Amino acid sequence: MTTSVAMSSQRTGTADTPCTFCRIVRSGARDVRDFGTMVAFLDAYPVSEGHFLVVPKRHLADYFELNDAEQSDSVRALRDLRVTLLEADSNITGFNVGVNCGVTAGQTVEHAHIHLIPRRRGDTPDPRGGVRGVIPAKMSY
Ligand code: 5GP
Ligand code: ZN
Repeated sequence: MTTSVAMSSQRTGTADTPCTFCRIVRSGARDVRDFGTMVAFLDAYPVSEGHFLVVPKRHLADYFELNDAEQSDSVRALRDLRVTLLEADSNITGFNVGVNCGVTAGQTVEHAHIHLIPRRRGDTPDPRGGVRGVIPAKMSY
């Protein structure tokens, strides 16, 4: 436990290499939506239009470091954003909610985040299996 906390605080970055998401959290930018202990902002390289990231204000390594308040605010953020997206775009017919925890699982930014990815009919030829596609050969069953 002690090791995990120590590792997390090391990952806040330095003046030369600040954590990207810590910088966004602290930016105060208008497009960073506030959800108490969490924020949400659009992904810079979206899988689909309206792809949001839900991110703790604290620098944490991954989803499993979120405390109860952060988990609760995450659910509220996901629900709120879903409604906002559905109201804005009638072509949205589904969502993927995804979390990559650890490099092995595909995580590239070492600051916890949850992906909310709106889906539209026909956005990929065969969507069956969805998040099973993390291992492409196992997507279909
Ligand atoms: P991961 O692979 O760690 O689960 O996801 C990291 C996500 O962060 C990716 O979807 C990537 O597009 C997004 N991302 C990386 N750098 C930035 C950035 O500077 N700003 C924003 N808004 N998103 C970023
Ligand atoms: Zn950070």
